[in-house]
Amino acid sequence: MKSDILNILCIGHPAQLLAPIDGLEYTEDMNASFDVIAVFPDADITALYENMFSLKKMVCPVLNLTGKPLKRQDFAFDIFIEQNWSLIETPLRALLAKIALLPDISSSPDYSLLTCLALSYTREQDLMAQWNASVPELVDYPLLSGIASQRNHLEELTALGLLSASSFDKVHICSSCQSSRLNVREECVKCNSSHVDEHSLIHHYRCAYHGVSDEFEEENKLICPKCNHELRHYGVDYDRSGNVLQCEECKEIMTEPNIGFVCADCGTHSTGDAIKVRNWSNYSLTPSGQNALITGSLPKRAFASVFEHLKGVYTKHDFIAIALFSRETAIRYKRKLSAFRIEIVNLQKMRNEMGNQELNRTLAMLAEVISEVVRTTDAVTILEDALYLLMSETSSDAAKNAFDRIDKKIKTIISYPVKLQYQEYDFFDDPKIFIGDMK
Ligand SMILES: [Zn+2]
Ligand SMILES: [Zn+2]
Ligand SMILES: [Zn+2]
Repeated sequence: MKSDILNILCIGHPAQLLAPIDGLEYTEDMNASFDVIAVFPDADITALYENMFSLKKMVCPVLNLTGKPLKRQDFAFDIFIEQNWSLIETPLRALLAKIALLPDISSSPDYSLLTCLALSYTREQDLMAQWNASVPELVDYPLLSGIASQRNHLEELTALGLLSASSFDKVHICSSCQSSRLNVREECVKCNSSHVDEHSLIHHYRCAYHGVSDEFEEENKLICPKCNHELRHYGVDYDRSGNVLQCEECKEIMTEPNIGFVCADCGTHSTGDAIKVRNWSNYSLTPSGQNALITGSLPKRAFASVFEHLKGVYTKHDFIAIALFSRETAIRYKRKLSAFRIEIVNLQKMRNEMGNQELNRTLAMLAEVISEVVRTTDAVTILEDALYLLMSETSSDAAKNAFDRIDKKIKTIISYPVKLQYQEYDFFDDPKIFIGDMK
């Protein structure tokens, strides 16, 4: 059968120098059709991953013949000879059969996302994080080598319920360049120098002077810096009452140093309490993820799921209760209270024109901008394609100003013309219209 012939793409080795093996044909042309990629020691690995991505051949089986570990490999052996080949032929053909059952995702706008699912599915492996000191993030996913923004994709797929995450580790990130290649140090509490050393503390009985041992040390003697007497006998003249830390730069004395970080990529210093932490996870395919892959398309992300991380988001039921309670309180104490509905008028058009991934990214940015005006005293609920907002202590004019700011900000950060419509309700006079519209 002709289909039994496998085309091997040879990277980093002249194809005509390979021993002929029954059922195999060799090519060096990346644009030819091929079934398996064989990577030899002279291969340019970075270029290989880039080409695999641009040719949409990310799930193609990779044979590693480099003699070194390759991040993205399915099989490895030393020399390309029939004997070695025969050892992997059966599992390799099984992998190819599994890949052949997948729908063609090469023209999907969500190719990267679907590829993450496809690699996990066909390799029957979780998407495992791994330490990698050669990237600023310090962590990557070997199985996804060649896919950019791995972390964003994985979070996106998790938000869609297609992957489930379990914790890998937490890493600190530089506030300036987001790198995680940071040096952690014990630092002076006053000047942040890492030149901090431990000293013992000496107590001179005679004059009651307390100081670090440095101050007493003179040649081979201990001389009190306060009364100039020599300290001879431990326990009689003086004692050592524990240890302290002293900064060699500014001489500050402290019992506990600060913890600080210096970024190895940009040199920025961050204090321990200001530094941000990023959580990294391992991911496994969920049954929905498997379904999405088999159908070749991602589920549409509900409008609500993007916004549910906003502060003050309530269920409709709770929101109505809060709204009515706030209205009573506002009337009794003569406070301001405004009620609004915000709708993305062209959401359907956005859905049609953007890929899912682009739409979700845009909605996420929108949620971020809106969350800047939502305070902890405000309440939000999201129903189908609109967001209902209750702003306490806010006049109608102040709310309109806030919406103007949202519109401006959206225009600067989102290139797509997102059209938001704000509708204000006369919530004081007639709460029924607002509540009624939510049903
Ligand atoms: Zn940095
Ligand atoms: Zn200091
Ligand atoms: Zn003294």
